[in-house]
Amino acid sequence: MSLKLPFIEDEIIDQYLTDENPRPWIIGFSGGKDSTMLLQVMWRALMKIPSELRNRPIYVVCNDTLVENPKIVGFINRTLDRVQKAAAEQGMPISVHRTTPRLEDTFWVNLLGRGYPAPNNTFRWCTERLKINPTTRFIQEKISEKGEAIILLGTRSDESQTRARSMKRHALKGQRLRKHLLPNAFVYAPLHDITTNEVWQYLMQVDAPWGGKHKELQTLYRNANTDSDCPLVIDETTPSCGQSRFGCWVCTVVSRDKSMEGLVLNGDDWMEPLMEFRDVLIDTRNDRAYREMRRRTDSPFKEEDENTWGPYTPEARAKFLTMLLRAQREIQLSQGEDMQLISHQELVAIQLTWYRDGIFTHKVADIYNQINEQQIVVSNKYLEKYQQEEQLLRDVCAENPEDFYFIQECLLLQRNKSLLIRKQGLKSELEKHLERYVAKERINTTVHG
Ligand code: SF4
Repeated sequence: MSLKLPFIEDEIIDQYLTDENPRPWIIGFSGGKDSTMLLQVMWRALMKIPSELRNRPIYVVCNDTLVENPKIVGFINRTLDRVQKAAAEQGMPISVHRTTPRLEDTFWVNLLGRGYPAPNNTFRWCTERLKINPTTRFIQEKISEKGEAIILLGTRSDESQTRARSMKRHALKGQRLRKHLLPNAFVYAPLHDITTNEVWQYLMQVDAPWGGKHKELQTLYRNANTDSDCPLVIDETTPSCGQSRFGCWVCTVVSRDKSMEGLVLNGDDWMEPLMEFRDVLIDTRNDRAYREMRRRTDSPFKEEDENTWGPYTPEARAKFLTMLLRAQREIQLSQGEDMQLISHQELVAIQLTWYRDGIFTHKVADIYNQINEQQIVVSNKYLEKYQQEEQLLRDVCAENPEDFYFIQECLLLQRNKSLLIRKQGLKSELEKHLERYVAKERINTTVHG
């Protein structure tokens, strides 16, 4: 390790200074050990470069699926805040960005709203919606601004044979970068020869340049009885999604969530309602009573083949929503109101989807109000108004559909902040969102005349 590290740092410095017209670096940060080491090694290498030469922007991108393990989310957010602050103080060209799925793509809008069965290996509808698409949008945005982008990942060849094969296949001969599936995007994995032991050795010996040691990270892994990460997923070749932990707490692709079991056993027993909810999703997924007899499409239906069954029945969707809101209430009572498993915006979107599916027997607001003291109103009038506004917005943005999503995302930020407890930071988040959008539009206008 001691021999490899100076070599890796030199390689990073060389790569950083290579381009005359520097392509931005996008670092996929998941808060796990590999991406933490990557960010740290990269940071320390950059500190050796004179500040006037540090003019390549580096974006640290962290994707939030909105169904992350709440304990891990808290840890990642604290780390990212420290990274952002330390980067500004130390004059590093590093900025932190969080990506999230669009409202219509969230786990709850699809599972509870549209009735998609809990994902498994044959119907894994979540990875693209929750992970690949949000990050891809960010990367594309940067490519449209700068022409090309380089994505830095903490992937290592000892992680798995599939990954090693994929790294080899996409490698550009004699070069450090490999091609990414997206046009004009390249991948750089400086840690590819580092072993898992070496990662831990490094993190135990070297403090974080953004402050502090890595004790909390080590404790998280130890308590979760795991050594595997859920890294930033940028394409379908990333094998760990759904196979390793520190991913979505609701993941039903694995039969047991050993890391959550470990955390509960080691004192975080407030997470038990989450485990119970996930287990119910697994147990009922292929229960005939929970599924519609027909599919949304006209594709053939076979009684004996659960892969041909339709979505969850209205009763199943209402039951799961009730269970989820109960779990949320229970956790909020012990951990504070900030512990949110589903947003108000998602609740409204679920009600809208139920109406579109002709479900009038269950009302989201009724279910919510039975469980919570704070009452919400999602009346027909409100929904009609919501639908009209949504259609109006779509019509107005017909020539540039990206405007529709931009405005929807601003509204989502505002509603989540004002209806829920966390109200701080709305202005700066909206400003950041707007700045990114204006910059992208300006480039598009210049490029396309
Ligand atoms: S961790 Fe599981 S639920 Fe989350 S995106 Fe991956 S496969 Fe889907």
